[in-house]
Amino acid sequence: MTALTLIDRLSGVKRTGPGRWLARCPAHDDSRASLSVRELDDRRVLFHCFAGCDAETILAAVGLGWQDILPPRAVDHHRPRERAPFPAVDVLRAIAHESLIVCVAAAMLQEGQTLPEPERQRMGVAYARILAGVQLAGIRP
Ligand SMILES: [Zn+2]
Repeated sequence: MTALTLIDRLSGVKRTGPGRWLARCPAHDDSRASLSVRELDDRRVLFHCFAGCDAETILAAVGLGWQDILPPRAVDHHRPRERAPFPAVDVLRAIAHESLIVCVAAAMLQEGQTLPEPERQRMGVAYARILAGVQLAGIRP
């Protein structure tokens, strides 16, 4: 469900910006557009009547309940919350650590040594982790 579920049932709707509307409040005799409706990026719907009507009265006036306007994720309490993005400093630390491993391997190769199999495999892991970290940071190599 989106804000449109609510917007469709309101009158005097004016779009005031991306994901923002003003409409007549269905819960009181509203001659002006007192109801502000906003849809957030995660599809949560916020609404507020500047005349002071409470949210449940507004929803009830248009025949809706909270379950009708909450995004499915918010209703389903059993689903795990989305993981927060990694802090940039943690990504940088991980990249720095993996870079060190690649540097050691590079130094060995430069000195004409052959990389033993465990080191060669570990370098592959470091390479994959560095690329993952770079992608996580939104940088394209
Ligand atoms: Zn109202």
